Amino acid sequence: MRYPEGLLRVSRALSRLPGIGPKTAQRLALHLAFHREEAKELAEALEGLAALGVCRVCGNLAEGETCPICQDPSRERGVIAVVETVADLFALERSGEFRGLYHVLGGALNPLEGVGPEDLNLESLWDRLEGVEEVVLATSMTVEGEATALFLAEELKRRGVKATRLAYGLPVGGSLEYVDEVTLGRALEGRKPL
Ligand SMILES: [Zn+2]
Repeated sequence: MRYPEGLLRVSRALSRLPGIGPKTAQRLALHLAFHREEAKELAEALEGLAALGVCRVCGNLAEGETCPICQDPSRERGVIAVVETVADLFALERSGEFRGLYHVLGGALNPLEGVGPEDLNLESLWDRLEGVEEVVLATSMTVEGEATALFLAEELKRRGVKATRLAYGLPVGGSLEYVDEVTLGRALEGRKPL
């Protein structure tokens, strides 16, 4: 049978999302076809994404020039947690243990795939170190994340800034994004100098 083009289009777009296979995509598309209010709400929410930009200080998502965390006067300005992705930043926020600021690298060093320091959001990190007492290296427990943490620790030492690393107890080889809040909170509490 031939499916209506409008339905196919929604299905195709949904099936490109992570974790959504063609069957789920079709089921969701059909659901939306029969629930127009929900479809409208979703369409409007997606439109709103266009207004999202990147915080020029830390690399988090932002609706203006800077993100809500950088704007929050109650955050400790002397501590910065360096994370690979915005998803990792959200994970640390969920733990509720961290009251400092963030810096999003946009990835990790990966020489095999040709990702070097110049490909990461680093220049803006060096530019914001004044008055910073500690940088928490909250990169993933993967080979790339560890290599990135070591590289950053060296660079920070040269610049006279203390670097700490999340405590072990986090799953080796894992991304922070998938670690539960309690474990992540403890890892933060028990961070060690590098
Ligand atoms: Zn920010």
